[in-house]
Amino acid sequence: MSHLQGLTGSIGNTPLIKIESLSAKTGCTILGKAEFMNPGGSVKDRAALWMINAAEKSGALQPGGTVVEGTAGNTGIGLAHVCNSRGYGCVIYMPDNQSKEKVDLLRTLGAEVRVVPTVPYANDDNFQKQAGRYAATLDNAVWANQFDNTANRQAHFESTGPEIWAQTDGKIDAFTCAVGTGGTLAGVSRFLKQQSNSAKVILADPMGSALHNWVTTGEATMTPGPSITEGIGNSRVTENLAGTEIDDSVQVTDQAMVDMCYTLLRKDGWFFGSSSGINLAAAVAIAEQLGPGHTIVTILCDDGGKYQSRLYNPDFLAEKDLHIPSV
Ligand code: PMP
Repeated sequence: MSHLQGLTGSIGNTPLIKIESLSAKTGCTILGKAEFMNPGGSVKDRAALWMINAAEKSGALQPGGTVVEGTAGNTGIGLAHVCNSRGYGCVIYMPDNQSKEKVDLLRTLGAEVRVVPTVPYANDDNFQKQAGRYAATLDNAVWANQFDNTANRQAHFESTGPEIWAQTDGKIDAFTCAVGTGGTLAGVSRFLKQQSNSAKVILADPMGSALHNWVTTGEATMTPGPSITEGIGNSRVTENLAGTEIDDSVQVTDQAMVDMCYTLLRKDGWFFGSSSGINLAAAVAIAEQLGPGHTIVTILCDDGGKYQSRLYNPDFLAEKDLHIPSV
């Protein structure tokens, strides 16, 4: 009998899916890691599980404890699921510029959500800093700290990277994905580079992020934005990202991301979130640079369900001067 062991045993080991239209268009094999198939619906389930496992292992988190995080999105969802399955409390700090759907979803999952005024990272009352301070006031509690806690990167070094290597039989010419915390790109890069130097690792960056400049010039200076993408792009090099070998970077505009998401929905049937659209547009650009016959792997971070009021809302797109492609 073959089965998975409960909720946490169902995180990871996602399929690697050939995106047929993009492969046919480029003459390359374009493969997407189906992270939307994790129990919490995103790539961040892996980070949530590894951060909680690390806190248990260090003794910082004991039975009945609490996990606190500042997050507006998928990490909170992943943490809420894993906390429920292990009997931990989950407290999420969120800035007040986030949609009501996100707050409602986290509350439905059982997290205590604290919505706080939106202020920049440099301000002491930034939601992430408030999360850290609050965790420090509790007994038996940890601040997950996904940006600088390298258990996040380790999740992808120990699971996503080896899965991609096995699923491609090591025949991979390029890996690309966007960065929020950097856990995914850094963990996968470290694993692939340990196996062989033949796979190029290429950052996929939305507009309005500093990381494209960091990879191409060494200086993390902001590029012109903004972007409607969520969960990706960064103005600083996190602990997870620091010291990672990245060969190149591709910038993807919001319009290219919208074109990708709607074309895949209407023609192939896929319903992806905005970061998957950035990743797939980068994969196509890389395929065009490399020429036919190469294998390019990327991440399908989450599905489109959470993006209905923005990416999949024609009025919102029109306000942002973005056009739905005619397909
Ligand atoms: N896509 C989505 C939808 C996300 O929520 C995140 C995490 N913020 C990412 C991509 C980026 O992943 P990472 O944090 O591992 O860089």
